[in-house]
Amino acid sequence: MPSADTLRAAIRDVVDFPKPGIVFKDITPVLSDGALFRDAITLICDSAGGQKIDKVVGIDARGFIFAAAVADRLGAGFVPVRKKGKLPWKTRQKAYSLEYGESVVELHEDAVAPGESVLLVDDLLATGGTAGAALELLDQLGAKVVGVTFLIELAFLGGRKMLGDHKVVSILIFN
Ligand code: IMP
Repeated sequence: MPSADTLRAAIRDVVDFPKPGIVFKDITPVLSDGALFRDAITLICDSAGGQKIDKVVGIDARGFIFAAAVADRLGAGFVPVRKKGKLPWKTRQKAYSLEYGESVVELHEDAVAPGESVLLVDDLLATGGTAGAALELLDQLGAKVVGVTFLIELAFLGGRKMLGDHKVVSILIFN
């Protein structure tokens, strides 16, 4: 059984990145260790609780790494939610607030069919703006979001409140 404690010990705090005052959770030590990466994927897959998943949706950019591996393991498709201007086909867009200014995420409008079961995956939940915007886009397409899973949740930022009444699972919670 994979140990979340071992994963937690591997997460590296980087002070003042990308700007002064921010303590960035660096997940690259998890990615570069074969056993830890596999454990992370296993725990994210387990969060689906055996439900049938049609599409695993990952958020630009670190979310892609986990979501693609999870999709492969679950026999599901992978769908990217990207920052504005990166997707080539027709998209739905959603703007959301950042600490300073705003950002826009996009989803191909044919990426998920109405009623398809979706697991949304990202590396980290902070304020919840990014995942909340992704959920709004999935809602517009009529997706059935059966779960939202993060490797890390910064619980002190209260991001869960942006995710409505979805089932939210975080493998590692930092208070
Ligand atoms: P939110 O929109 O404030 O919840 O920010 C979450 C997004 O920012 C995720 O897509 C993360 O990849 C990224 N992010 C924010 N803080 C960190 C961090 O400390 N480590 C890694 N990614 C982060």
